[in-house]
Amino acid sequence: MSSFNEEYNNIVYNRERLAEKKERLENEESIRRYRLLNKIDRRLLNEQHSMYERIQTNLYDKCNHILVYTRINEDRRGRIYKKCGCIKCGLDENKLGINRLSFEDKVMQDYLKKHKSYINGLDLHIECDLSLGMAVYSKILEKHPNIDDSTAVRYFMYAINHIKFVEVSEERKQSRAKRLLLEPDFDNWKSPNDIKKD
Ligand SMILES: [Zn+2]
Repeated sequence: MSSFNEEYNNIVYNRERLAEKKERLENEESIRRYRLLNKIDRRLLNEQHSMYERIQTNLYDKCNHILVYTRINEDRRGRIYKKCGCIKCGLDENKLGINRLSFEDKVMQDYLKKHKSYINGLDLHIECDLSLGMAVYSKILEKHPNIDDSTAVRYFMYAINHIKFVEVSEERKQSRAKRLLLEPDFDNWKSPNDIKKD
């Protein structure tokens, strides 16, 4: 018998022993329980996902969007392309055209696709990192819970212009990031076009 045949028979023998062990395990109470828990968890995850989708869809539907540019591209002919994001609900046009997304981002992408792929709303005509815009806006709401949109926009523009154009030390930037609950290494205070203007 060739050594190949011997090796093959060995594998078959080993797999048979494994099958016996697996069968014994399968009848154990803890394994049965584990499988049951997995099944319940999968069902709950599905419910969680579909509820998340309903909550977000409702949020996007009800929002009177306040928009900032989150990305500005210029092609070779000098034509400008802008992507918008809403500082109130976080709806972000940049999620379109991305293939690998988290479940949450996929929900946003599906919503945008269903709504003609662009966002209508009050356009502030400024370029701003969306997480920064959302953080500043939510701080304003935190201090003035009953504020109307136009006053909130005035406060927002004041705060953003201050952030963009008043130079502060690195320590101040770090403590500001902390106050706004941004990542500690957040460094998008200015947008690329603001930096070009300097
Ligand atoms: Zn919105």
